[in-house]
Formats: sequence, structure tokens, C-alpha cells
Amino acid sequence: MTIFGCRACGATLTVPLSRVAFPVHAYQKYGNGPGSLDPALEPGTFAVDPLPAGAPWRWSVESEDSEALGGSDAAVLLAPGDVRGAVVDPALVGDSGCCGLGGGPPNMVCVACGTPVATRIDDCGLRQAVWLASLATKVIEDGPGRAPEFGWTDLSDQWPGIAPIEPDGRWNPMWEAAAASALAHLLAVSGGDPILIPDHRVAAIFRPLLDRLVDPVGAGPERTLVLAGPGLAAAGGDLALVPVHPQTGEVWPVAAPMRPVPLAWDAWAHLAAHRDAKPIGRSVPILPEALPERLPGYRLLPDGRIFLCVLALQPEVRQPWLRAIYERGRPFSYGYFPF
Ligand SMILES: [Zn+2]
Ligand SMILES: [Zn+2]
Repeated sequence: MTIFGCRACGATLTVPLSRVAFPVHAYQKYGNGPGSLDPALEPGTFAVDPLPAGAPWRWSVESEDSEALGGSDAAVLLAPGDVRGAVVDPALVGDSGCCGLGGGPPNMVCVACGTPVATRIDDCGLRQAVWLASLATKVIEDGPGRAPEFGWTDLSDQWPGIAPIEPDGRWNPMWEAAAASALAHLLAVSGGDPILIPDHRVAAIFRPLLDRLVDPVGAGPERTLVLAGPGLAAAGGDLALVPVHPQTGEVWPVAAPMRPVPLAWDAWAHLAAHRDAKPIGRSVPILPEALPERLPGYRLLPDGRIFLCVLALQPEVRQPWLRAIYERGRPFSYGYFPF
């Protein structure tokens, strides 16, 4: 477990935490409320942004050198309830928020010494979060996590996915973030060729989006996208929609020349558990409870900002056809999918 503290005075600032993979929906901006989104992390966990300066934008697309990205230290993300010994200082709260705290410079101070140590976010449409200020905090205790680290096979039993449907019938925001990231990866590895998606549930998510984004005229041979990961029989295909380990961030490995398209575990696990029943050669009727759960009646619209952020990080974004998609979306994207 890991405990963070104040760099200035050494006071404890968090409960004991286990590290998990940085979630793709950490920076999600979801419409304009009402209210904020649930925290991106479960209680008792923390995650470190692998990028040094938050969302990557144009500079990373134009630079041949990924080292040119950003410059500040890694940011540590917590669920707000795991903070101890720090309080929001009204004098540090800027006016950038709409209904709440919108981020910006640190707005929480160490109770013991008054040093600004963290930024609390709870504005409408944003994930409830606390970001530790890297220069003002430090690890004061470190060791193995309290939560066990699951192997791939145990994950399927111990870490269920998240259903795509909210009680009000809308898509779960996490799915909109996860699909946005996967779509960017899918485009990058596709080379602009047409993509065949035999699984109906996977197709229901990605087919309409691909049809809007990719012009098949003059494109190369079709590439097949299949689900692959723990518990699934190996399927032949060119591209594999594979899970990202929710604790380690590892991407499920596939054998070349198949290319992986990473999808957040919480979405992947649900797709894998509810994938299409095999329709051919079946002699026994399918019981109603064995049929795949229905997806929401309307299409998933991916998070536009996450889509463009992830796309900007793919080396393939410098291919003219993909760069054109990026440029089309960039001026309009603030959370909404701009296509
Ligand atoms: Zn608001
Ligand atoms: Zn302090």
C-alpha cells in the first residue's frame, strides 16, 4: 500500500492506497451536468497519469519525438474520500468552475502547514477527483497493495465489467470514454482499410462510427476485428479488441501479425461475457436468458475529447487520411463527438 504526505511538513495526506492503471475516463467532460460524474477511481486506489502534462494536443501530432510531450511531473489521481489532513481553501478557489470546483491550480491546503497540496474537482460534467500536486507531495509509505493483483484468468471472476446502460436508458459515461479510446486505436491500426466486425455487439458500437469516419473509396483489403482476451477461444482475424488490465495497465497480448486494439477492462469484460451466441449449426433452441443482453436503443456517441487525445498519441496520426480526421474534429471538440 502507498500513503502520500505533505512534502513540506511530512503530514499524512491520504489513507493507504493500492495503485491501479490510469483510467481512460479520468479527464472525461460529460455534457454540462447535471452534477458531476462519479469518481474515476474506486475508493482505496490511486493512479498516475502516464503523460507528464495532461491532455496531449497539437504539439504531439506535429512532433516526431514523443519526448517533446509536456514538461511537468506526473499527476496522481485519487478518489476524494481518500484524502486526509487537507481542506479546500476558499481563497485558492478560482472562478473557472460552473457549479463547483473546476480544477486549475491547487485549491486544497495541508491542514498542518498550510501548503497548497492538491486540487479538488467537483464541477458539473467532470469526474469527482482529487489530483495531488506533485511538487508539494511525496510518498511517505510504500509497499504492496492491500488489494490482490489479479492474473488475467482471475480477473474474469473477480472483476466484472460495467453494464453499458444507465437506469435512465442512456449509455454509461465510462463506455463513451472507453469506446472513444478504442476507436482511436482501431483507426490507427486499420491503415484506413475497411473493417469487418462479425460480432454484432461490437459492431453495434463501432460500425456506425467507422462508417461516418472512414471513406472506403480506394481503400485496401478488408480487415476483420474480433474479440480476444481471457476466457475466449482464439479467433482468426487481423485486429483484436483486447482488454487493458485494470490494475497493471497491461494490454492482453496477441500474436503477430494480429494487432491489438485496447479497450478498458470494464467495457471489454461486459462485451466478452455477453457476446453473441453462436448462430450457426445450433440444433438446440437458445433459452431467452442465454440471449445477449440488449444494448441501449440509440447509438453510442464516444467522448470527442478523449477520442482526439488518444488519436494524437498514435504515430499513425501523421498518415494523411488519419490526420484529416483529427483536423476535422479538433476545432469542435469539447467533450462531444465532433463527427
Ligand atoms: Zn454547471
Ligand atoms: Zn504540510
